[in-house]
Amino acid sequence: MATHPDAPGRKFPGKFILGDPQLGSAVYDHAVRKERNETRRQRCRPSGAFPKRHNPAAMLRHLARCEPVRVLCLSIACPKPIARDSSTAWFPGRSQPNITMPRGRSMRPFVALFVGIIASAPLAASAAGPTRPLIEVDLNGQRVEGTALSWSRSSVFLLARDGRLWDFAPQTARDFRKLPTGFTSYSPGAVRAQLQAELGNRFEVTGVGHYLVAYPAGQRSQWAQRFEDLYRSFLIYFSVRGFQLQTPEFPLIAIVMPSHAEFLKYSAQEGKPLPAGVLGYYSPTTNRVALYDITDGERSSAAWHTNAETIIHEATHQTAFNTGIHSRFASQPRWAVEGLATVFEAPGVWNSRANPNLPDRINRTQLRGWQQYRSHRRDGALVELISADGRFNSSTLDAYAEAWALSFFLLEKQPRDYAAYLQRLAALPVFEERTSAERLADFTGVFGTNFRLLEARFLRFMDELR
Ligand SMILES: [Zn+2]
Repeated sequence: MATHPDAPGRKFPGKFILGDPQLGSAVYDHAVRKERNETRRQRCRPSGAFPKRHNPAAMLRHLARCEPVRVLCLSIACPKPIARDSSTAWFPGRSQPNITMPRGRSMRPFVALFVGIIASAPLAASAAGPTRPLIEVDLNGQRVEGTALSWSRSSVFLLARDGRLWDFAPQTARDFRKLPTGFTSYSPGAVRAQLQAELGNRFEVTGVGHYLVAYPAGQRSQWAQRFEDLYRSFLIYFSVRGFQLQTPEFPLIAIVMPSHAEFLKYSAQEGKPLPAGVLGYYSPTTNRVALYDITDGERSSAAWHTNAETIIHEATHQTAFNTGIHSRFASQPRWAVEGLATVFEAPGVWNSRANPNLPDRINRTQLRGWQQYRSHRRDGALVELISADGRFNSSTLDAYAEAWALSFFLLEKQPRDYAAYLQRLAALPVFEERTSAERLADFTGVFGTNFRLLEARFLRFMDELR
């Protein structure tokens, strides 16, 4: 039995469970959510819920009516309710609808100069492709070296050499120059030194494989190995299913905070205050995982199991976003991102050698959630989940259960199609919004438009799981 620090006095068998369906929703950008909900109310409610029949044409007509409910690229949150999950991830705060070359005459000279530098032609081509220009810039007193991924008169997205994405207005850039070499990641040693300097001597940083993990000084360093183990499991799992995975461009960073309070403080410094009950998150903006030690340093505690679950979920997000399974900079449907991470939580997935059978691959927590949700599940729920992320805010636990169930079904029954679908998503244009109709088309382009048949097969598969 254990008591969660956010719910003193509440006891839960084995693991920390809260069960607040709204948990995590505060992570979501409030203004965006409000606007989206209001738009949905105004534009979609009069026409009722999604069409009941599995009729793609009707779905598309419905979605066309609801077109103002756009999927805001890079502004989706990824709340992970502790009841079925324990973490959260998010995306950078806003989208960039116009990725065009700015016109100098309408820009102030220094903005034009800055944009001119970042838009300059690539350096010499190599076998691996053109070298990306490297610029150095002062952003609010911090020197940043990186390469611009997109730019406009109002916004620049700069990928730094430590893997962090900077989003700023060109007017705020100071003291910038183009460097003679092309863009490359900092070495693991340089990132490690940077991380140590940032966190101070209360932390140790251990490097194992692709990972750099910072944890409270003095603790046995089992953290880094756990992250790297998950990375290797992920690699094996997808390689045997025909996925071509990329080697991460940047060292993968995870930070283990010694306490819940320091974890909250750190997340606030990153610009996203967390709701209560969140144990960890992956941020595609910083490309880091942050979590805290739920056991308070007691290695023998059974609560280490919760640490391990958090690592699995967040490292799955991080690995997927760094090996090309997902794109950090394109709009990725929440159901696909969260579905994959929840699939990985099952021992038969992240440790298939020791747990080789189908029952081992079932995420028991999500299956229980699915079975509770099944009785009030509506027709057309699949289309709704695939075409928009709204259900993750309005009925979070059910959305997680269905995202897991659909991902699990597709991985078990149509792994090649599932791989093709993820590859299609990962290749979407960066920093662009994706409408609901486009999201649905991304799915039907791989799996076909016969949702009636798909749903029948899906429900039969799920109903037989024990
Ligand atoms: Zn997640």
